[in-house]
Amino acid sequence: MVDYKVVQCPFCGFIQLSTAKSVFKCLRCSRTRRITTSKGIPSIRIIRVFADFKRANAFIQEYKRLQGFS
Ligand SMILES: [Zn+2]
Repeated sequence: MVDYKVVQCPFCGFIQLSTAKSVFKCLRCSRTRRITTSKGIPSIRIIRVFADFKRANAFIQEYKRLQGFS
């Protein structure tokens, strides 16, 4: 099963959807970071996790709107 993670880039703050399991790559600044440390602790901000793409996408649109992102 694929997890749709709503994550925030730790470098530029960009919010995006990621299905990556180990390494996050920002679509805006192109920097990468491991999603979890070797101890399984999240090393980036995971806002929500969805099992359904449509719900994840709807959430991210609403979240960005509330946060003032365009
Ligand atoms: Zn970024």
